[in-house]
Amino acid sequence: MNSKGSIGVPPLAAFQVTVAYRNTPVLTDLNFEVPAGTLTAIVGPNGAGKSTLIKTALGLVQPLTGHFEFFGQSFREVDGRVSYVPQRTSVDWDFPVTALDVVCMGLYRKIGWFRPVRARHRKRAMEALAEVGMQDYAKRQISQLSGGQQQRVFLARALVQDAELFLMDEPLAGVDVATEKTIINTLHRLRDQGRTAMVVHHDLDTVSEYFDRVLLLNQHIIAEGSSEEVMTPEHLKQAYGGKLLILT
Ligand code: ADP
Repeated sequence: MNSKGSIGVPPLAAFQVTVAYRNTPVLTDLNFEVPAGTLTAIVGPNGAGKSTLIKTALGLVQPLTGHFEFFGQSFREVDGRVSYVPQRTSVDWDFPVTALDVVCMGLYRKIGWFRPVRARHRKRAMEALAEVGMQDYAKRQISQLSGGQQQRVFLARALVQDAELFLMDEPLAGVDVATEKTIINTLHRLRDQGRTAMVVHHDLDTVSEYFDRVLLLNQHIIAEGSSEEVMTPEHLKQAYGGKLLILT
């Protein structure tokens, strides 16, 4: 792992970030830090701005004010240290490539664009597919995989990037139980290696079990901290209003 700028500097920090789409505010004055070696869930109702937060951090959406820092630097300066797993539904899965091709795409930065993928690259990609239980599907067209299998291939692609920070948008949405287990085990393993992940998560029941920290969002940050501190009935009511039935 590259340790440049890592000592005491959070992998991700937001400084007074406000985002609007056509004058409608979506995120207001976000300030937070994601500590190294932790798994943070971004939780909040539909339309809370969870995806927008990740897209803005990655420079895909421009903030109205404020900025994000990765390891104390701008996103452009941390080439290769950050991996993004987009929402599965935002991807064109009819693109004619195999699962192995998709994972190899994660290696292009290391290989060099327009250079051939060599045997050792394919070996690393196969290892990553094995890590997520997809080694038998390497030659399959991605369009022929189930949603859960596609999500695992995406995770394998992130793994070969060998990043220190993983940003994932709803990796557990609509996946089967086995895939959910695989993804969570992989995230825990990454954390045990000192890596960091920030994950949009929709299932309130599993937040505390899967994640160390939570950022509870509904346009602004309602609460942030350990799962125990954040996942209280009061905070959830603030975030979800009357839309949530809390059974204790
Ligand atoms: P979440 O991920 O929490 O469901 P999003 O970040 O996708 O929320 O969206 C936050 C709000 O911004 C929603 O009201 C959504 O309709 C709106 N929005 C998202 N993307 C765009 C866009 N490209 N243009 C205009 N409005 C958008």
